[in-house]
Amino acid sequence: MSKSTAPKINTTRKFPDGLASAHSLLLNAKNGVKGNHKGTRYAIPAFNVTTFQAINSALSAFDMLGSSGILAFSNSALKSFGGGDPIFGVDLVTNYIEQWAKRLKVKVAIHLDHGDYISESGKKVVQACALRFTSLMADNSTDHKNERAMPLKDNIQLTREVVNMAHPLGLSVEGELGVLAGEEDEDTKSDHSTYTNPEELEQFLLETGVLMLAPTIGTMHGPNKGKPGTKVKLNIQLSHELLKLADSINPEILFVAHGASTLYPEVVQFAVNNLEGHASQQKWKDFVGTDWDQIEGLIGAGFSKINTDTENRQTYVAALIGALKKDSAKIDIRHYDKATTEAVTQSYIKKLIMAGSYGVWHEPKIDVNKFKFDLGIDLATATGTK
Ligand SMILES: [Zn+2]
Repeated sequence: MSKSTAPKINTTRKFPDGLASAHSLLLNAKNGVKGNHKGTRYAIPAFNVTTFQAINSALSAFDMLGSSGILAFSNSALKSFGGGDPIFGVDLVTNYIEQWAKRLKVKVAIHLDHGDYISESGKKVVQACALRFTSLMADNSTDHKNERAMPLKDNIQLTREVVNMAHPLGLSVEGELGVLAGEEDEDTKSDHSTYTNPEELEQFLLETGVLMLAPTIGTMHGPNKGKPGTKVKLNIQLSHELLKLADSINPEILFVAHGASTLYPEVVQFAVNNLEGHASQQKWKDFVGTDWDQIEGLIGAGFSKINTDTENRQTYVAALIGALKKDSAKIDIRHYDKATTEAVTQSYIKKLIMAGSYGVWHEPKIDVNKFKFDLGIDLATATGTK
C-alpha cells in the first residue's frame, strides 16, 4: 500500500483509442502479463523519436510484434517537430500518433522525456504535454544547463507539482533522482554522475508520489559510455537495494533505466565496412555501449522501461551511409528514406524482441525466432514476410 499523500493515478481516464499511460503498460511488463496470460517479466523499450519516419518505424514495429509501445519525446525533439515551437510540436505529433494508433490493435504511450519543470519555458511544455500525452517525465534532478544538481527539496517539490497535475488526468509521472552522466541531446547533458542515495529515495518516493523512477546506477546517455576496450559496469547491487526499498513503499512503483543503449555490432560493422578511407571510420570503431547482459540483469531485477536511442540513431546513419555508397545518384528521396526507415524499423523490432516485449496485445505477425537483423536486406526479407 502506498503511504504517499500524493494524488493516486486516475486509472479510469479514457485516452483516445490505442493510447494508454506508460505506467499501465509497464505494470503488465513487470508482472509478465501478455493478453490473458501471466508469464515471464519483460521490459518495454522507450524509443526516442525525432522524425515522423521514426514514429512510422516504431508504430510498424509495435504492430508487427503485438507489442506495447512507448514513444518518447525530448524538449528539443518537440521543438524541431514544431518548427521551433515545442507546444505546436506537442499537438502535431499527438494528432499524428492518434490517427495511426487507432488503426492498430496495440497500446501506445506518448511520453515526455526529461521534462523540465524548472524553467518557465520548460513548464509550458510539461503543461501542454499533460493535456495531450499519456505520460510525463519530470526531471528536476539537474538544472538542465549542465551547471548544477538541484537540491533534493526542490527536486521533490517540483516533481510533486507535476504529480498533482498529471495523476488526476491519468498520466504517469517519472521522476529522476541522482545525476546521470553523458549527453542525450542539447537539453540533457551532464559531465558527472552521482548514484541514487537510498535514504533520499525513500523520501523522494513518499513525498512526490511518482510511480516511475529513473535511478542512477551507472548507466550513461550517449554513444560513448566509456573508454574503447573497457566495459561499462552498472551498480547492480545498488539497483537491487533501491528496487527492494521502492517495492516496500508501493509495489506499483516501476523502475526505468536511462542510457540503456546497447551497441549493435552488426550495425557498427556495416558502417565501418562502408567507411573505408573515411576519417569517421575510427569514431565508429570507438563507440562503447552498455553490454546487453547488464541491461538484461536490470530487467530481471525489475526495471520495466529501458530507454534506448543511440543504437537506433546509429542504425539510421549506418543505413544512410550504405544507401549513399551503393547509389548516390538516385533523385527520388523515397529511395533513401525507405532504406533508413526500414533499417530503423529493424532496429526497433530487434530491441523489442530482446526486451521480451512481443505478443502482448496479439500474436506477433512475424516469426520472432526467424527475424534476421541485417542492414544489407530489406524489411520484408528480414521479417520473413516477403
Ligand atoms: Zn534519459
